Amino acid sequence: MHGLFKKARREQGLTQSELAQLVGCRQSAISMFESGRVDALSRDTLEALANVLHVEILPEPPAETTGQVLKYCPIAECPSNIPYVVGDQLCFNPSLVRESSADRGHCPSCGEFLESGCPNPDCNAPIRDGAFCWSCGEAHVAPAVSLNQSAEAWARDRRKQIRDIRQLSTITTREHATPASMLNLRDRTNVQKRKTR
Ligand SMILES: [Zn+2]
Ligand SMILES: [Zn+2]
Repeated sequence: MHGLFKKARREQGLTQSELAQLVGCRQSAISMFESGRVDALSRDTLEALANVLHVEILPEPPAETTGQVLKYCPIAECPSNIPYVVGDQLCFNPSLVRESSADRGHCPSCGEFLESGCPNPDCNAPIRDGAFCWSCGEAHVAPAVSLNQSAEAWARDRRKQIRDIRQLSTITTREHATPASMLNLRDRTNVQKRKTR
Protein backbone atom coordinates (compact mmCIF):
# COMPACT_ATOMS: atom_id res chain seq x y z
CA MET A 1 0.00 0.00 0.00
CA HIS A 2 2.76 2.47 0.97
CA GLY A 3 4.44 1.80 -2.40
CA LEU A 4 1.34 3.13 -4.09
CA PHE A 5 1.58 6.38 -2.14
CA LYS A 6 5.22 6.88 -3.03
CA LYS A 7 4.46 6.32 -6.72
CA ALA A 8 1.53 8.75 -6.62
CA ARG A 9 3.62 11.41 -4.86
CA ARG A 10 6.38 11.19 -7.46
CA GLU A 11 3.86 11.27 -10.29
CA GLN A 12 2.56 14.55 -8.89
CA GLY A 13 6.10 15.88 -8.64
CA LEU A 14 5.97 16.41 -4.88
CA THR A 15 8.92 16.02 -2.52
CA GLN A 16 8.38 14.29 0.81
CA SER A 17 8.61 17.64 2.64
CA GLU A 18 6.16 19.36 0.27
CA LEU A 19 3.69 16.56 0.82
CA ALA A 20 4.28 16.68 4.58
CA GLN A 21 3.45 20.39 4.56
CA LEU A 22 0.25 19.78 2.59
CA VAL A 23 -1.07 17.18 5.02
CA GLY A 24 0.38 18.68 8.19
CA CYS A 25 2.93 16.14 9.33
CA ARG A 26 6.71 15.86 9.39
CA GLN A 27 8.80 14.79 6.40
CA SER A 28 10.30 12.00 8.51
CA ALA A 29 6.83 10.51 9.04
CA ILE A 30 6.24 10.43 5.27
CA SER A 31 9.65 8.85 4.80
CA MET A 32 8.95 6.17 7.41
CA PHE A 33 5.51 5.52 5.94
CA GLU A 34 6.90 5.11 2.43
CA SER A 35 9.53 2.67 3.65
CA GLY A 36 6.83 0.41 5.02
CA ARG A 37 6.16 1.70 8.54
CA VAL A 38 2.45 2.04 7.87
CA ASP A 39 1.91 2.92 11.54
CA ALA A 40 4.02 6.07 11.14
CA LEU A 41 0.96 8.12 10.20
CA SER A 42 -2.24 8.65 12.13
CA ARG A 43 -5.49 7.67 10.45
CA ASP A 44 -6.35 11.37 9.88
CA THR A 45 -3.01 12.06 8.21
CA LEU A 46 -3.35 8.92 6.12
CA GLU A 47 -6.78 10.07 4.93
CA ALA A 48 -5.43 13.55 4.13
CA LEU A 49 -2.57 11.94 2.23
CA ALA A 50 -4.96 9.75 0.26
CA ASN A 51 -6.99 12.85 -0.59
CA VAL A 52 -4.03 14.86 -1.82
CA LEU A 53 -2.58 11.99 -3.83
CA HIS A 54 -5.93 10.63 -5.06
CA VAL A 55 -5.13 7.19 -3.68
CA GLU A 56 -7.94 4.99 -2.45
CA ILE A 57 -7.59 3.55 1.03
CA LEU A 58 -9.57 0.83 2.73
CA PRO A 59 -12.22 1.93 5.24
CA GLU A 60 -11.10 1.95 8.87
CA PRO A 61 -11.59 -1.39 10.64
CA PRO A 62 -14.52 -1.54 13.10
CA ALA A 63 -13.84 0.08 16.48
CA GLU A 64 -13.82 -3.13 18.51
CA THR A 65 -10.83 -4.50 16.59
CA THR A 66 -8.85 -1.23 16.57
CA GLY A 67 -5.57 -1.60 18.43
CA GLN A 68 -5.83 -5.41 18.42
CA VAL A 69 -3.93 -7.29 15.77
CA LEU A 70 -3.20 -10.91 15.01
CA LYS A 71 0.42 -11.93 15.48
CA TYR A 72 2.54 -14.96 14.73
CA CYS A 73 5.98 -16.33 15.49
CA PRO A 74 8.29 -16.13 12.43
CA ILE A 75 10.61 -18.95 13.54
CA ALA A 76 10.11 -22.14 11.51
CA GLU A 77 11.51 -24.34 14.30
CA CYS A 78 9.05 -22.93 16.84
CA PRO A 79 6.40 -25.39 18.09
CA SER A 80 3.73 -22.74 17.48
CA ASN A 81 4.19 -23.26 13.73
CA ILE A 82 2.65 -26.52 12.54
CA PRO A 83 4.36 -27.96 9.45
CA TYR A 84 2.57 -29.70 6.61
CA VAL A 85 3.41 -30.59 3.05
CA VAL A 86 1.61 -29.65 -0.17
CA GLY A 87 3.12 -31.39 -3.17
CA ASP A 88 6.81 -31.29 -2.23
CA GLN A 89 6.60 -27.94 -0.52
CA LEU A 90 7.01 -27.65 3.22
CA CYS A 91 4.55 -25.13 4.67
CA PHE A 92 3.95 -23.84 8.18
CA ASN A 93 0.60 -22.92 9.63
CA PRO A 94 1.28 -20.38 12.38
CA SER A 95 -0.78 -20.28 15.58
CA LEU A 96 -2.17 -16.77 15.73
CA VAL A 97 -2.23 -14.66 18.88
CA ARG A 98 -4.53 -11.63 19.23
CA GLU A 99 -2.70 -8.78 20.91
CA SER A 100 -2.54 -5.02 21.17
CA SER A 101 -0.61 -3.55 18.25
CA ALA A 102 1.23 -1.32 20.72
CA ASP A 103 2.68 -4.34 22.53
CA ARG A 104 5.89 -5.93 21.37
CA GLY A 105 4.61 -9.41 22.14
CA HIS A 106 6.81 -12.43 22.73
CA CYS A 107 6.07 -15.87 21.38
CA PRO A 108 4.69 -17.96 24.29
CA SER A 109 6.52 -21.01 22.92
CA CYS A 110 10.02 -19.79 22.02
CA GLY A 111 10.25 -16.17 23.23
CA GLU A 112 10.89 -14.63 19.80
CA PHE A 113 9.29 -11.23 19.08
CA LEU A 114 5.98 -11.76 17.33
CA GLU A 115 5.29 -10.40 13.85
CA SER A 116 1.94 -9.03 12.74
CA GLY A 117 2.49 -8.44 9.04
CA CYS A 118 3.42 -10.31 5.89
CA PRO A 119 7.22 -10.84 5.77
CA ASN A 120 7.34 -9.52 2.21
CA PRO A 121 8.50 -5.89 2.74
CA ASP A 122 6.60 -4.71 -0.35
CA CYS A 123 3.37 -6.14 1.03
CA ASN A 124 3.33 -6.03 4.83
CA ALA A 125 -0.39 -6.91 4.82
CA PRO A 126 -1.80 -7.80 8.26
CA ILE A 127 -1.71 -11.55 8.83
CA ARG A 128 -4.80 -13.71 8.46
CA ASP A 129 -5.23 -17.40 9.16
CA GLY A 130 -3.21 -19.72 6.94
CA ALA A 131 0.32 -20.47 5.81
CA PHE A 132 0.43 -17.86 3.04
CA CYS A 133 -0.27 -14.14 2.81
CA TRP A 134 -3.81 -13.47 1.58
CA SER A 135 -2.54 -10.43 -0.30
CA CYS A 136 0.71 -11.42 -2.04
CA GLY A 137 0.98 -15.18 -1.49
CA GLU A 138 4.29 -15.07 0.42
CA ALA A 139 4.79 -17.80 3.03
CA HIS A 140 4.31 -16.37 6.54
CA VAL A 141 6.97 -18.68 7.94
CA ALA A 142 9.83 -19.65 5.64
CA PRO A 143 11.16 -23.19 6.11
CA ALA A 144 14.65 -22.30 7.38
CA VAL A 145 15.32 -25.95 8.14
CA SER A 146 17.53 -28.18 6.02
CA LEU A 147 15.85 -31.52 5.46
CA ASN A 148 17.79 -34.79 5.54
CA GLN A 149 14.61 -36.74 4.77
CA SER A 150 11.50 -36.20 2.67
CA ALA A 151 9.44 -33.12 3.52
CA GLU A 152 6.51 -35.42 4.28
CA ALA A 153 8.49 -37.50 6.81
CA TRP A 154 10.04 -34.40 8.35
CA ALA A 155 6.66 -32.71 8.83
CA ARG A 156 5.18 -35.90 10.33
CA ASP A 157 8.05 -36.29 12.84
CA ARG A 158 7.94 -32.62 13.66
CA ARG A 159 4.19 -32.67 14.31
CA LYS A 160 4.74 -35.55 16.72
CA GLN A 161 7.52 -33.61 18.49
CA ILE A 162 5.23 -30.60 18.77
CA ARG A 163 2.48 -32.75 20.30
CA ASP A 164 5.02 -34.00 22.87
CA ILE A 165 6.26 -30.48 23.59
CA ARG A 166 2.68 -29.27 24.11
CA GLN A 167 1.92 -32.17 26.44
CA LEU A 168 5.07 -31.39 28.43
CA SER A 169 4.09 -27.75 28.74
CA THR A 170 0.65 -28.63 30.14
CA ILE A 171 2.37 -30.82 32.73
CA THR A 172 4.69 -27.91 33.60
CA THR A 173 1.69 -25.60 33.99
CA ARG A 174 0.13 -28.08 36.40
CA GLU A 175 3.34 -28.30 38.40
CA HIS A 176 3.37 -24.54 38.73
CA ALA A 177 0.26 -24.87 40.86
CA THR A 178 2.30 -26.58 43.59
CA PRO A 179 4.23 -23.59 45.04
CA ALA A 180 0.96 -21.70 45.56
CA SER A 181 -0.62 -24.57 47.48
CA MET A 182 2.59 -24.97 49.52
CA LEU A 183 2.36 -21.30 50.34
CA ASN A 184 -1.18 -21.81 51.61
CA LEU A 185 0.05 -24.63 53.79
CA ARG A 186 2.82 -22.49 55.21
CA ASP A 187 0.40 -19.63 55.77
CA ARG A 188 -1.89 -21.92 57.70
CA THR A 189 1.02 -23.13 59.80
CA ASN A 190 1.93 -19.54 60.61
CA VAL A 191 -1.64 -18.81 61.66
CA GLN A 192 -1.57 -21.83 63.94
CA LYS A 193 1.75 -20.77 65.41
CA ARG A 194 0.43 -17.29 66.06
CA LYS A 195 -2.60 -18.75 67.76
CA THR A 196 -0.51 -20.93 70.05
CA ARG A 197 1.69 -18.01 71.03
ZN1 LIG B 1 7.94 -19.03 18.64
ZN1 LIG C 1 1.99 -10.36 1.58
